[in-house]
Parts: sequence; structure tokens; C-alpha cells
Amino acid sequence: MNPSLLTHLACSECGQSFSPHEIQRFCPQCSAPLVAHYDLEAGRRHLDREQIAHRSRGLWRWRELLPVFDLRWAFTLGEGDTPTLALPRLGEYMGFPHLYLKDEAINPTGTFKARGQAVALSKVRELGLQKVLVPTAGNAGGAMAAYAARAGLKACVLMPSDTPRANVEEARITGAEVILVTGLISDAAREAAARIEQGWYDISTFKEPYRLEGKKTMGYEIAQSFGWRFPDVIIYPAGGGIGLVGIWKAYLELRTLGWLEKATPPRLVAVQAQGCAPFVRAFRAHADHCEFWEGAQTMASGLRVPKSFGDRLVLRALYDSQGLAIAVSDTEIRDAQRKLASLEGIFASPEGAATVAALPYLRQSGFVHPEEQVLLLNTGSGLKYLP
Ligand SMILES: *Cc1c(COP(=O)(O)O)cnc(C)c1O
Ligand SMILES: [Zn+2]
Repeated sequence: MNPSLLTHLACSECGQSFSPHEIQRFCPQCSAPLVAHYDLEAGRRHLDREQIAHRSRGLWRWRELLPVFDLRWAFTLGEGDTPTLALPRLGEYMGFPHLYLKDEAINPTGTFKARGQAVALSKVRELGLQKVLVPTAGNAGGAMAAYAARAGLKACVLMPSDTPRANVEEARITGAEVILVTGLISDAAREAAARIEQGWYDISTFKEPYRLEGKKTMGYEIAQSFGWRFPDVIIYPAGGGIGLVGIWKAYLELRTLGWLEKATPPRLVAVQAQGCAPFVRAFRAHADHCEFWEGAQTMASGLRVPKSFGDRLVLRALYDSQGLAIAVSDTEIRDAQRKLASLEGIFASPEGAATVAALPYLRQSGFVHPEEQVLLLNTGSGLKYLP
């Protein structure tokens, strides 16, 4: 049983090809992420978007476009197929008549990290690895621990000691070893180095090729829910930015498959916190990579990523989509969180609320026309951040 159309992995910088039948991390020459490629020509001939749309719910509906060859190893906790909700009351308040929100808080472990970990750990299991670790700002660790338990893998999660308590507890209860580190995700990554040497497989953002594949299913679902086209603008809270790159990859793949009714790309907006905004700084300078952000600080812990390993891919997606990167303050995030909850009943994570906080900027700058469709991503549940 081998439905996957995966053909090979390629370095996102030099293009060198790598086998998906062996364990891979990132390109050793360029120190850059590997990206999965599929036989989309075969997909164009043999796959039917309506057939996929009518399969039973969950991200494995898209199995031909996902990297697991043997579906025995396709583990699930029910992730994917999250709702896209119209926001009429918030939209009226903000002056956006066509405002929508995709609510990723519905996913297992309460955030969209479940998508990436479901696919990455399934592939890890298929490749026969046994020990996985992840340095994390929080939610990626909780999600990894859950899917590691599901797949029968040994897990180790390294996170900052001030990570929200829910992340520590959810990782511990699944049996993962939890290591609390003084400092940031970058310090947790340094701490992980010794174990990686000892054969633990590193699931860090962009340092293996398959979390991106799980995240891209958001883009497929977005296109499907908008009638096989993309909304004009998609607003995404960017930490490492893997979801943003995933949505852009989904757009390119669907366009190649010939499944889009309208091939106009969505303009992608990366929202960051003013206390940690490496993409915003790079975007303003028209740079192709980010500089390390010193002294990163924000209540939106998922955005506290001083330097992404996939920074070039994220910036490329922003430029290619004619998008934008903007920063909002923690006060604006808190106010936006209250507004979204009181007007629409959605208790978003601070990261998700940051997309709401970005709306006044986008309107005042004229970046978004009032008649355009705007989609916000609520990447997680506010419940995960209770003290
Ligand atoms: C990790 C995380 C983000 C940032 O996601 P990236 O893909 O790393 O940019 C945003 N929101 C929440 C809730 C997260 O857990
Ligand atoms: Zn390379």
C-alpha cells in the first residue's frame, strides 16, 4: 500500500537531492532545510480533488500528497479539518466585511503543532527511529510528546523554564523526559546538541523535512473551504514560520495540480511581537535572511523565536506572495484577545490574537482593501496559557 507520490527531498538552497527512504535532517553543505517533492504530474492525471474532499475527516485525507509510504505508520489523534469561521461582529468593528478565522485550537493538544508532529513522527516511525527530541518554545513539545506516545517512541522535550505550565504537564504525562532550560528556545537547542550526537533524532522546526508537510495541509483545507481558491490575504503569527511556508507550498502544489478555480496567490502577512520581530526587521531591509534577535521577550511564547532555521524560506514566501511582516505589542495582543473573545466567543492563544491586533495596521496602511477576503489563523487555544 503506497499511495504517496513523494519522489525525493531537495535542499532549499543548492537543490541537491536526498532520498526519502533514508533518515535525513537538513542539507549538510548549506545547513538549510530539505523540502519534499512529489510527482504532481501523476497527481494531476490520477487524483481527484472531490474524491479527497469526501474522504473521512483528518489530514491523512491528503495521503497522496504526504510523505508516509505505508499507511500502517500514519498515526492520528484526530488532527486537521478545523473550521473556517466567518467573523461578522469583529469584522464590522474592525472595518473588514469579509473577515474569517481558521480555528486551529480544535486540534489535539490545542494547537496547530499537532499537524506537523502527526506527520513527522509517523515518518520517523516508518523509518524505524526510536528516540526523538525537540527544543521548543512550548506547544511543539507538547504535541511531539503526544504523538511520540501514540507511535510508541521515546521522547525528550527541552524548553525554557518559563514556558506555560500546560506545555510542561502535557509533555510529562505522556511519559516524555522534560528538560527545563534557563533562557530561550535557542538555549534549549544548544542543550539538545549532546543528545543529537548520541542518536536522538531532532524534530526542531525546519531541521527535519516532514513537519512542513503536516503544516501545509492547512493550506489545502483553506483552498477547499473557500471553493478551491485562496482568500486575498492570510494573516499568520510567525515564530519559526513553518506554517507560513507550508501554506505557500500548498498553494504552489495545488496550482501545479490544476485544482484551483482561481490561481491568484494569497498575500501572506507574518505577524510578530514587538519584543521579538526578526522577520519584520529583515523584511523592512529587503534582506534574504534574519539576524538573531537579542533579548527576545513576549507573552506570546510561540513567537519567541530569535532566529528561525528556515528564515530564507519564510522571507521568500513573503516576497513571492507580495505579503508583509508587521509587529504588534503585547498590550495590543491582550486587547485583541479580549475583543475576539467578547465579540465572537473565541478564546484564542496570544499568537492567534496577534493576527487580530494586526488588522488596524493593515487597514490604515491600505495594504488590505475593505472588499477583500481576509483570513486569520488562530494557531492555538487560550486555555493553554493559564498560569
Ligand atoms: C509555534 C506556534 C506559533 C508559531 O508557529 P511557526 O510555524 O513556528 O511560525 C504560533 N502560534 C502558536 C500557538 C504556536 O504554538
Ligand atoms: Zn544544500
